[in-house]
Parts: sequence; C-alpha cells; structure tokens
Amino acid sequence: MKWRVMLELVGPDGIVGVHEVGGRAAVAEYAPQMIGLTLEEGKHLLAALQVHLVQAQAEDHCRRRRRCQRCGAQRPLKDQRSRRLVSLFGTVEVRAPRFTPCRCAVTSRRTLNPVAEIMPDRCTPEYERTVAKMGSLLPYRRARTLLAEFLPLGKPQAVETTRQRTLRVGTRLEQEAVAGAGSKSVSAVATKSIALSIDGGHVRAARQYQGRTFEVLLAQVSNDEGKQVVFASVPAEATSQTRQLRGVLHGLGATPATPITILSDGADGPRSLGEAASPGPTHHVLDWFHLAMRVQHVAQAATSWPDATETDRQAGTRLTETIERIRWRLWHGQVERALDLIAETVVTVGVAADDKSPIAAAARKVARLLGDLETYVSGQSNIIIDYATARRREEPISTAVTESTVQWLLHRRMNAQQQMRWSPRGAHLMLKVRTSAVNGTLNRDYTVAERWARRPFWRAV
Ligand SMILES: [Zn+2]
Repeated sequence: MKWRVMLELVGPDGIVGVHEVGGRAAVAEYAPQMIGLTLEEGKHLLAALQVHLVQAQAEDHCRRRRRCQRCGAQRPLKDQRSRRLVSLFGTVEVRAPRFTPCRCAVTSRRTLNPVAEIMPDRCTPEYERTVAKMGSLLPYRRARTLLAEFLPLGKPQAVETTRQRTLRVGTRLEQEAVAGAGSKSVSAVATKSIALSIDGGHVRAARQYQGRTFEVLLAQVSNDEGKQVVFASVPAEATSQTRQLRGVLHGLGATPATPITILSDGADGPRSLGEAASPGPTHHVLDWFHLAMRVQHVAQAATSWPDATETDRQAGTRLTETIERIRWRLWHGQVERALDLIAETVVTVGVAADDKSPIAAAARKVARLLGDLETYVSGQSNIIIDYATARRREEPISTAVTESTVQWLLHRRMNAQQQMRWSPRGAHLMLKVRTSAVNGTLNRDYTVAERWARRPFWRAV
C-alpha cells in the first residue's frame, strides 16, 4: 500500500486547489518503525501544510483587499514584495503585493499593504507566546532545542532575538497587570479570607551592574477556596508594584472587608509591600518556617558539642533539650518565656565559652547563634503568634511554600549552575512571563496584553 496526504483548498469561486503534502511509497513488508507516522514525517507534513495554507490565506486576503469597497474595481498593483513569517510549523515566504489607491478614491491616497495587515509581525502570535513561555522555563538555547525536537521550526532564530521577544512579552504583561489592576472588571466572587505569603530572594547580577546581587520579591497568595497565584517582581524595576499585587488580591476575591494574613520573615520590604497592597484589614504573622530555621541553626550547632567526657556529654544533652524547649515555647507563642530561656542559656553557654577547654569553640558558636535568635525573636515579637493553636484552626502559619517557590522561580531558571547572571530589568521581565506560565494564565494574559504590543518587532542588531 502507498499513501498520500492531500490538502484541498476551495476558493470563494469554488475552484479547488489540491496539494500533496506528504505520503509514503509502497513497501514489500512492514516493520514496527514503519507503523503510523514517524516524528520526522509528522514534522514534514505540518511544515508542508503550513506553507500551502499560509500562502493561500495571504493570497485570499490580498484578493479581497484589492477590490475597492466603494466602486468594486480592482486597485492597481503598485509593486510586488515578499514577506517571511516565522511560525511553530516553519518559516513561510509569501508574496506581498501592494496596491495603489483606487482611481475613484479622492479622500484616501494611502498605499495598501494587505499582507502587513494580517502579518503585522515577523512571527505568528502563537510562536511568540510559545517561545516566550518555554524561554521563561528553560534557558533559551535549550528551549529552542526542545521545541525543534517536536516542531518543524526550520532555521532557528538568534538567541538574542528570542530573548528580546520574551522580555517584550514580559513588558506587555506588566503593562496589562498595572492597567488591569485599576479596572473594575474583576469578576471574582468575594472570598472570606486571604493568606499572602511574601518573601525576598536574591539573584546574581551581571557584572556591569552595581552590587553582586539584587533583590527579588515573591508572593504567593491564596484564598479560602484554595486558589493560588504567584507574584514576583524586582522592586527596583517594577512599575506600580503595589498596584499589581493588589490586582492579584482582587483577582482572588479580596474586598475592603476581607481579612488578609500577611506571612513574612519580618523584613521591612516584603512586609510593607503586603501591607500597602492589601485593600482590607491585615494581620501580620512571622512565618513559622523562618523562626523554626533560626532555632534549627542553634540545634545544629549543638550537635557538634564535644562528647569526650561524661560531663561534656551531659551538658550537650541538656543543651539539646533546652533548645527543644525554646522551640516549644515559640511554637506556642510564648515569646517572653522563650526569651527568658534563651537569655539563661546564653549565660550558661557563655561560661563554657570563656573556658580554655575543647568545648569553648562549640560554646562560642552556640552562644553566637543563640544571640542571633534572641535578637530576631525580640525584634519580631509582635508578629509571633501561637502557631500550635493557629495550626489546629487551620490558619496559615508558614511560608515554607513560598520559600520553595522562590527556589523554583529563581534558581531553576536563574541559578549559578547555568552560569546565568541577570540584569535587574531582564530578571524582572522574565519573572513576569514565568509567573504567568506558572499560574497557568499565560495564554490568556498574552492575548489580553496584545493591546500594548508594538508591531512589528525589530530585533536589535
Ligand atoms: Zn474604487
């Protein structure tokens, strides 16, 4: 058996055009790898189909536009050019005739370029969106290699072009987020409560930028239906960051009456952004994750307490138990009692630290970390809550999820292993695309943000 795939194009006049786009010759015998389409055949088919389809659509559009709407005559041909369109199914070259105004037109003296109307840019919107999405999840070169594995992309575009396109998409998404946040078109149903986890992270800066790293803020917002949205921005680069985050809160159903729990590590930047963005009453909570981590640092140091003598061993055990009690008191929101115990322990350990014995080094380390914990707890005492009770009531207590989101958002794409250093601007715009992809809203966001697009896109030389 041999087979062919034919494309049939039927024009408005009923004239049928038929093109063969793929097929296979007869074989004497079948083998497993001959059954069905191969990936290569599939890619060829799609590419061939795309060429005929795009050319036919462009011709159809030009034919329609050539006819004058006023008198019905054909507009004179001015010149014939060609135009290339990059798509997910290959690059197609089409004829792009331009028409001079119809002789009947006294008002409009404009040259008509029909192909430019339907192909305002060098690539299809879908190509741009898909490449931006993949490019936000993987390094560009790898994203391109991966896409080319399954799609007949043809000759790849320069990485720099892809990068710039992706950042333009990020720019548009942000413009839309700023504009959309102000509109009253938010149709979300009012929610009973909102948990806003907000945290800062750091990204390595490209060499030409001041400082080795720059700050990134990440927020994870969830409502009582369990719907969750991730938000990220580089504060130094953001346009109306507060307004954008408020838009996210509105989108999840926050009203001026909705109580918002803001979980943070207590740092001013994240806290005040959360506060400013909230339309309703706020309640700040020091997230348990950060507090537990500080206690964990002390507990970790205590494990290296010397155990050469029985006395040392007992002292080590007592210390470990004391740290557990400190953790327990903090977990139950007993700030004063926890601080008392920390202060006592600092004194006890401090005595050992003055010693010349082998425990002095371990004691100094524990004392230092306890001192850090004391400073942290007393500094954040007003936002330490009774975590045990809150957890029983299923109230939010931890931004551990945010912490892993930070890791995921920043480091999987932006980590040191990939030798990536970022400009603050580039990271900011990339995060706009990436969070949109992570939230599963990129297709919609991209379409809505099209109104901010400036077409055609001209790549930098
Ligand atoms: Zn006319």
